[in-house]
Amino acid sequence: MATADLPTAAYATAPGIGLTLERLRHAGALFDEEGDALAGFLSIDPPATVRRLIVRCFDSEPGLDGDSTLLHSVAGESGTAAGTIAARRVVRAAVELAAAGGCESIHLVVAREAALRIRRAWRAAADMRGEPKAAAHAIARRVALRWVDALHPIAHPVLLTRAVTGIELPPGRSAKSAGCWIVSASTLAALADYLETGRPCLSVRLMLGLPRGETMWVTVPLGTPVSQLVAHVTGSMHLQRIVANGWLSGADVPGDKAVVDARTQAIWLFDEFARPSVVPCIRCGQCVTACPVRLVPIDLYEAATAGATTGSRGADACIGCNMCTYVCPSHLPLAAAFTPSAARTEHIVEASAIAAAETAAPPPDEPPAHTAAADSRRLRRTSMLDPLPLAGTADLHDLLAVWWTATALPLLGAVVFFGAAALKLAAVAVATALLTEIVISGGRGKPIRGNLSHSGLMGLLAALTLPATAPVWAACYGAAVAVGFGKIATGGFGRYVWHPALVGAVTTQFVFGAGLAAGPVLTPRHLIFGDVSSAIPIESGAYPGWGRSRVPLGVNAVRVDPPVGALRRAADGAIPTGHEPPILVLLRDHLPPWEDTLIGATPGPMGATCSIALIVAGLYLVHRRMLSWGTPLGVLIGAAMIAWIFPLRETGGALRWFPGSATEETVPIGLIYVLYHLTSGQLVITAFLLAGEPTTSPMTRVGRWRFGLCVGCVLMLMRLYGIVEAEGWWAVLLMNTFTPLIDRISRPRAWGGGERAERASR
Ligand code: SF4
Ligand code: SF4
Repeated sequence: MATADLPTAAYATAPGIGLTLERLRHAGALFDEEGDALAGFLSIDPPATVRRLIVRCFDSEPGLDGDSTLLHSVAGESGTAAGTIAARRVVRAAVELAAAGGCESIHLVVAREAALRIRRAWRAAADMRGEPKAAAHAIARRVALRWVDALHPIAHPVLLTRAVTGIELPPGRSAKSAGCWIVSASTLAALADYLETGRPCLSVRLMLGLPRGETMWVTVPLGTPVSQLVAHVTGSMHLQRIVANGWLSGADVPGDKAVVDARTQAIWLFDEFARPSVVPCIRCGQCVTACPVRLVPIDLYEAATAGATTGSRGADACIGCNMCTYVCPSHLPLAAAFTPSAARTEHIVEASAIAAAETAAPPPDEPPAHTAAADSRRLRRTSMLDPLPLAGTADLHDLLAVWWTATALPLLGAVVFFGAAALKLAAVAVATALLTEIVISGGRGKPIRGNLSHSGLMGLLAALTLPATAPVWAACYGAAVAVGFGKIATGGFGRYVWHPALVGAVTTQFVFGAGLAAGPVLTPRHLIFGDVSSAIPIESGAYPGWGRSRVPLGVNAVRVDPPVGALRRAADGAIPTGHEPPILVLLRDHLPPWEDTLIGATPGPMGATCSIALIVAGLYLVHRRMLSWGTPLGVLIGAAMIAWIFPLRETGGALRWFPGSATEETVPIGLIYVLYHLTSGQLVITAFLLAGEPTTSPMTRVGRWRFGLCVGCVLMLMRLYGIVEAEGWWAVLLMNTFTPLIDRISRPRAWGGGERAERASR
C-alpha cells in the first residue's frame, strides 16, 4: 500500500483547491450539531445567531479531547514554557476571532490556576497584533476571562452556559438556544490559524482507492471538493464512478458537488464499473436478517416505490447503514428508496439554511423543538450522498449456484443407489424445465437469462421427487408443470406462491399414480453402474437389510418395502402384532436397519432417501446463509413431537397411546421408532432442501421457525393419519399458502420504531 501525505500547502496553492469559507460552510452543514462546533460555527451567520462563544480552556476529561496537551498546558499547575505558548495560542485565537467580528463576545473559561498565565498571554497577544490602542481596547472588551475550579463539573454545557451567561436552560435545550457556542481551546486555536493564514484548519485523513487497485492515505482539508481532489491526485483521468466511504455505507459521489467532510473516510475511484443489474426480489429475507434495527427493508422498499408512507412501518428507525442493500442478491436499491438521506441534499444551501434556522435562538417560552420533522430535517442534513445499490457479497447467480451445489448432493446419492436411471431422469427434467422457460418467457418477450438457472433448478428438484424407475415422461411432465404453472403462471420469478417443484411433483403423482411406486435399490455389488430394472422382490420379513441381504450374483437390485410404508401401516394398525407391542413387531420384522435409512439404501423418491447427503446439503446451505437453521430444525422438531406423543391405531381400530419414551427390556423402542420416522420418506428432503425455498418460505427468523414447526407437524400428522402418500410435498405446499400470514405475525419489532411509528401515526 502506498502512503502519501499530501501537504496542506499543496491544496492551498493549487488553483481552486483549499478551504474557503463557502466550502467550509458546506462541510459544516454535514457536522453533527454538538460534534464539531468549529465547522458549525462557520456554517452560520455569526453576528445573527452566535452571540457568545464559550471556550473551554480547562481539561475536564483528560485524554478525551482532541488536543489534550494544549488543554493540559493551559490548565496545568506548573508554569512551563509549553503552557505559556499554548496559552498565547489560545488567546491569540480569541483576539483574531474578535477582530474578525465573528461574534459579540468570547468567553475564555480557564482553570483558576491558569488565570494568571492567560492574562499575561492576553497582554502579549494584544501587543503582538500591533493594533492601535483604541482598537485593541475594543477587541479586549469583547474577550472575557472567567476562571473556574478545575474539578468543578462545569464542563457540562448547561452548567457552563449558566456560569457564563446566567441563563438557566430549560430541559432539552442546548447551549445554542441561548445563543452560545461551546468550543474547546484547540478548536479555537485551529480557527484562529484559518483566519490568520487563510489555510485550511481542519483536515481528515482518508484512504484513496485508485482504479488499478492501489490505495494511498491522504490528508485532505475539510471542504475540498472531491472532484478537485481526484483531479489533483490522478491528473485528468476520466472516471466512471467515484464512491465515498466503504462498501458498506458507500455512496456515489456527485463529483461536481460533493466536498470532503468529517465523515469521509475513503474515496474509491473506478475507471470502469459494472453496475449490478437489478432483478426482482426473490423474498430470500437476507435484508431482514441483515438489518441491525430489525426492520423489514423489502416492505419499506415496496411501500416507498409505491408512493406509500414508510414512517409508520418503522422507516424512521432506519439508521441508513445500507446493510440491506449490500446483502440483497437482487441488487435492489433498498435503502436509497426509504432512508431519510434518499431525499438527496443536492441543495446544500438549503441544508445550510436549515442549520442556521435550527441554531437560531428560539423565544424562551417556545416548547422544545424535538419533533419528528426536526429529526427528519437533521437526518437529511447529515447526509448529502445517496446510499448506493452496492454489490454485496452474493448476487442472484451466486445464490443459485449455492442451491445447485446443494441439490447436486442428493442427486449424487441417488446415482449411487439407483444408478444411471436417476441421472437420466434428472437430465431430462432439467432440459424440459429450461425449454419450458425459454418457450414461455421468450414467447412473452420477458427476459429469460436470470430465470434459466432457476428454472433448471426447479426441474432438477422436481426430478428428485420421483422414484428412479419413473417413466421419462413423468419427469418431463413434472418439470414442465413446475416451471410453466408452478413458477410462471403463479407470478413468475420471486413472486410465485407455492414451491414450483412441488407443484410439479404433486400433479405428476396425480397423473402418473401407480407408475411412481417406490423403485428397487441397487445391491452393494452393483452400485452406480447397476440396472434397477433387473430387480428381484424380497418380502419385508425376509429382508435383513441392504448390506446383509444375500442375492444371486447377476441380480442388480432388490425391490423391498420402503420403511415409510411400514411406518404408515403400523400407524394404521395394519401390522398384525398378537400380544406383542406393535412398535416392537414393527422394528423387529418390518423395518430395515436404521443405518439403511441414513445412507439412502432404501426405496423412495430418488432424491429423498440419502439422509446423509441431504443433511450435508442443508448444512452447506446454512453455512452459505441460504437457509435459516430454524427451518430444518423446526421441521425435525415438529415431526418428532407428533411422532413422539400421538397415538397409533391397533388392529381393530382402537387408538393406542404411544409415548416416544417407551422401552422394552431397557431398549428405547419409542426413541428408535421416532428416529425411523425422522430419517424415512420425504421428511429429510423436506426439512433440508424444500421447506426453506427462499421465495415461498417466510422472511424472518422467527417466521421460519414457525413455518418449519408447522411443516413438520403437518407432515407427520399426514403420515400417521392422512390418506395422501406424498405427505412432505403436501405439507410444504399447504404451509406455503400461509407464508404471508406467518410473515405478518412474525414481523420483528424495529428498535426504536414503536414509539416513532406511534408518533408518526398521530
Ligand atoms: S433498513 Fe435501514 S437500518 Fe435496516 S439494514 Fe437497511 S439501511 Fe440499515
Ligand atoms: S431479494 Fe432478498 S435481500 Fe433483496 S429485497 Fe428481496 S428479500 Fe430482501
